[in-house]
Amino acid sequence: LVSRKKQPENTVIAVNGTRIGGETQVMIAGPCSVESYEQLQTVASALRKAGIKVMRGGAFKPRTSPYDFQGLGIEGLKMLKEVADEFGLSTISEIVHPAHIELAEQYIDIIQIGARNMQNFELLKEAGKARIPVLLKRGLAATLEEFVHAAEYIAVSGNSRVMLIERGIRTYEKWTRNTLDISAVPLLKQETHLPVLVDVTHSTGRKDILLPCAKAALAAGADGIMVEVHPDPQTALSDAAQQLDIPQFAELWEGITSSGLFK
Ligand code: PEP
Ligand code: MN
Repeated sequence: LVSRKKQPENTVIAVNGTRIGGETQVMIAGPCSVESYEQLQTVASALRKAGIKVMRGGAFKPRTSPYDFQGLGIEGLKMLKEVADEFGLSTISEIVHPAHIELAEQYIDIIQIGARNMQNFELLKEAGKARIPVLLKRGLAATLEEFVHAAEYIAVSGNSRVMLIERGIRTYEKWTRNTLDISAVPLLKQETHLPVLVDVTHSTGRKDILLPCAKAALAAGADGIMVEVHPDPQTALSDAAQQLDIPQFAELWEGITSSGLFK
């Protein structure tokens, strides 16, 4: 179903008037985790000022260590909704449990399925029953074929509004947290008709090379970029080292919009 051979035209996914996968690109920005109203409001205000329409924020956090912050759960989804409504933004948040898909529909606009759950087939099937779009992240060590098969699980279960996001894969390289596989962008665009985005933050785990990586993604045909932004990254409860503060995000955004690659 997701194959370009099956459908030659791009799938365009409209989220509250924001079209993803068409002629224009989308920026998705926000904190790694939802932490408080104040944190979200500060980010939301900066996004609105920049004309950015989609805010991210994790409420259910699949952390490598069980002792790390696990997210605010349903409370976090409620906070996202309240702040998004206040600032006129759309939201995306990760769902990790099949039983929470219906709940997600009440509070958020896009369901994120994280890298660690790319092959959680029961979750994929349940996301296939959702009435809202799904952003599927590439697994930590998933081939593109496995990634496309995972998307197919969602589509065949009834939800054709699927977006793919390259977020870096695990290699021997240590200067970046993951290795951004830029070739995934043209290949996924070629093999599927789905929107393809690039998460430059998790791909690199760094703050200093986001602009060239975002430009490369856009030049390769990406339909959008995801970036983590936090009002005070040093105190962030997750991914403190890689989140941009608001002035750093404003600088990145200026670089992206002035590059001519983001329409
Ligand atoms: C995230 O986007 O917050 C996240 C956990 O990313 P990934 O699933 O790509 O590691
Ligand atoms: Mn993160």
